[in-house]
Amino acid sequence: MKVIKSIPALKSAVRRWKSKNKTIGFVPTMGYLHEGHLSLVRASKKKADVTVVSIFVNPTQFGPKEDFKTYPRDFERDAGLLEKEGIAVLFYPDAEEMYPGGYKTYVEVHDLQDKLCGRSRPGHFRGVSTVVLKLFNIVRPDYAFFGQKDAQQAIILRRMARDLDLDVRVEVMPIVREADGLAMSSRNTYLGPDERKAGLSLSRSLRQAKMRIDAGERRLAVILSAMKEMIAAEPLARIDYIEAVDMDTLEPVKEISEGTLIALAVFIGKTRLIDNMIV
Ligand code: AMP
Repeated sequence: MKVIKSIPALKSAVRRWKSKNKTIGFVPTMGYLHEGHLSLVRASKKKADVTVVSIFVNPTQFGPKEDFKTYPRDFERDAGLLEKEGIAVLFYPDAEEMYPGGYKTYVEVHDLQDKLCGRSRPGHFRGVSTVVLKLFNIVRPDYAFFGQKDAQQAIILRRMARDLDLDVRVEVMPIVREADGLAMSSRNTYLGPDERKAGLSLSRSLRQAKMRIDAGERRLAVILSAMKEMIAAEPLARIDYIEAVDMDTLEPVKEISEGTLIALAVFIGKTRLIDNMIV
């Protein structure tokens, strides 16, 4: 596996692949890899001739009071995991490479970026869309793989790809969970043992919602208030939002139906966890 840190070097590797008509799969990450990331890597390897993974903790998607500085990083371990997966190239730029002095250009996906997580993380999706468009322009992938874990992110990036006529297929892969149901996340390492237990309330509330929906319940208020109650029962948990929205527009729905996205964000102590399901 080749580790490439410079944009021109990666672009020339891409040119070589394109000249040989190889298809390119791309998996952008912020590193500290887990099985969720690796599921995307495997999906890409299945679909494309070559797979590029990027590791870049993107400063522009963190708010001033967020965890950019403390975000977990372990390059050696990540590189080892990707090596084992048989990845061709790991793109590992630093912030100066991606945002050199004088950088001024940002991408905004209006409306979608302001809902759900966007409300408590202003500027977050502007940072995400910007870095992903830059990465797309560098890697020029045929397919790019994202996780359903970050449902709003996937919806925004799909919209961006459509709106800006990008030649990339945005593929969204299912949420990978720990055995006990907790959605895998690099941020789970922040959780102490009691917080880890409290964090289970997110997936538990979704499972409970699914059971009610499967049993025929369609009333939004019933579903959402049962979820809220379950999470509020955890003293360490503080709900940021629990919402049922349309999967494409992220507009709140009046009644649960097929394709409704039920998404939630909950602070467990200082750590903000997210989870979701599509009905
Ligand atoms: P991150 O490193 O957190 O920016 O995530 C990189 C990619 O991995 C994003 O597309 C995430 O949605 C995806 N991802 C993160 N956690 C999971 C998970 N538990 N299951 C599936 N995909 C995930």
